[in-house]
Amino acid sequence: MADRENATGVLGLVQAFVNTVDLQDGPEELTDPNTLVAWLRAHSLMEPGSTASEADLKHAIALREAIRGLIGANSGGKVYPLDIATLNEAAAASRLRARFGADGRSRLEPEADGVAGAMGRMVAAVFAAMADENWSRLKLCGSTTCRWAFFDMSRNHSSRWCTMASCGNRQKARRFRERAKAGA
Ligand SMILES: [Zn+2]
Repeated sequence: MADRENATGVLGLVQAFVNTVDLQDGPEELTDPNTLVAWLRAHSLMEPGSTASEADLKHAIALREAIRGLIGANSGGKVYPLDIATLNEAAAASRLRARFGADGRSRLEPEADGVAGAMGRMVAAVFAAMADENWSRLKLCGSTTCRWAFFDMSRNHSSRWCTMASCGNRQKARRFRERAKAGA
């Protein structure tokens, strides 16, 4: 749908990471350490030749779900201390530092390499995305079983479902059934 386009730049990167799994119907893209490495390499978050362990995969998925929780706040959700702790741990483990490039621009860069560094770059992307005026448009689908990250391009920021064709209609059908039952 036109008003649920994918975000671009850092917002798009954060959205893409959160949406590496479709919680409702699958698939999970990050099924093993190799697919994690492939995803991080494809998004230029990790240097060539780096590998990942099962523990790295667990950390990456925990960070992904913490970011999903953070985005949920843009849809009126609660921010959970566990998600905040996971984000802070990833930032600390990657040893993020403020850096000024030769172009005079500032950014956060990890001192760690490998997956820890890649997770630091993802935290830096979240940091930059939260400073973007469009951060509040990055939302989670209102379906509790879906929680897909979508970019709300509607004029008044009022979209609640990832796609009307699936979740919106599913919710509507459920309400219709409940009303029908209540009326019977
Ligand atoms: Zn949905």
